Amino acid sequence: MGSERDIWAPDQDPWYAAAEGALYALGATYLYRVGEEVARTLGLPWDEGALRGLHLAKARGLSREEALERAERLYRESLAGYDRLPPSQYRDLAEAVTEKWYGEGRLETRAQRRSVAAYLLGMLRGGRKVGLDWRGLLGERERERIAYIAARGAEYVRRLKEAARHTLARLLLLWHENPTGSPEDLGRKLQEELGGLARDWRRVALTEVAHARSAGYLAALPEGAVVEWSAAPDACPTCRRMHGRRFRVRHSPGDPEREVWPGKGWEVGPSIPAHPHCRCRWIAVTQPVGEVDPEVEDLARAVIAAAEK
Ligand SMILES: [Zn+2]
Repeated sequence: MGSERDIWAPDQDPWYAAAEGALYALGATYLYRVGEEVARTLGLPWDEGALRGLHLAKARGLSREEALERAERLYRESLAGYDRLPPSQYRDLAEAVTEKWYGEGRLETRAQRRSVAAYLLGMLRGGRKVGLDWRGLLGERERERIAYIAARGAEYVRRLKEAARHTLARLLLLWHENPTGSPEDLGRKLQEELGGLARDWRRVALTEVAHARSAGYLAALPEGAVVEWSAAPDACPTCRRMHGRRFRVRHSPGDPEREVWPGKGWEVGPSIPAHPHCRCRWIAVTQPVGEVDPEVEDLARAVIAAAEK
């Protein structure tokens, strides 16, 4: 498996790096909005970087002490309601905030679009000229495959929302049960937990992009083409052993030991991605290396721009 450090490094291929960046940003922005809103509701200090009461004070023109005092007061006030309100208030808050930003951010639609973009970029890398108007260009089987890629994107982003809801509810309920420490501590913990989810999401985004681009790449090649496994520079031992191994391309499932096809999973036989955060890629042995056709470059740019919307 790759190290923790390189999940933050962009892919070496600028198109794939853009696709990874767009999908990651979607989830990271969502988590940020959710955290910010919870912090504001509970009057907790909140800052984009490491949490600092000082930053909060600067933004509001208060001294650090004033800001902390205010946060403390708001927090006590929100807890004061507990004599009358059930602890479900925290659960409701977690539910409401995660749902609100999920809807406002149009997360499912945008995750679908970003996942499909990765597939289209894979196709372009495979030498198939296809742009945003792929619906008219591609056949039934490819349209189905793209619908599947979109459904995966939507499912993963929904999972992120559920994880955020669960994390928030757990954190706030634990805090209620054992409210030691200052509001600043809770704010810091909130950022830590959401930061952990963002890191997990980065891994998901990288893996989903790898899955989509790899499928698109194979789909773009003619049946019978030969592809070679190209291990990422920092690949794990399993992937390094695969480096240079050749497979025949099919457009539907075949011999799992000697053939690969779009959407083939590791459970079936050797395929890319081989594991979460695998950045290996297929290289068609017949494909000339060198300059990219300017028209293809333009198509890729259009796909990336659409994904970033
Ligand atoms: Zn790999």
